[in-house]
Amino acid sequence: MALIMCTSVVLSDLRSGDGVELELAVGWTPEGTLAVDAGVGLPCFCATEHGTHYAESLTIPIPVPIPAGMALHPLPAAFAAATAQLAEWSGQSSSPSHWRALAGLPGPSLEPPR
Ligand SMILES: [Zn+2]
Repeated sequence: MALIMCTSVVLSDLRSGDGVELELAVGWTPEGTLAVDAGVGLPCFCATEHGTHYAESLTIPIPVPIPAGMALHPLPAAFAAATAQLAEWSGQSSSPSHWRALAGLPGPSLEPPR
């Protein structure tokens, strides 16, 4: 997705060195339409680096051009729906271990560095 805007809020667990990232983005899809994305991101602690993993994600496509007869542009409604979903996810838990368990992802090693 070619981003128009992207923002995130990181909720860190300083004891474990882990974190949860609530992400919201608006951008152009490869198909040439707009989309609003929201997600619960987690840093990768796999043996092979994958970047960010998403325990939850939502994509709301926006038709382009806007269909005739549509009174309001659908982008604000999609943005509102995505932010409402982020608020619901953030209310479930701010703990990385909660989201890792849900997505079946490994966490950071708790072994002390050598
Ligand atoms: Zn990974």
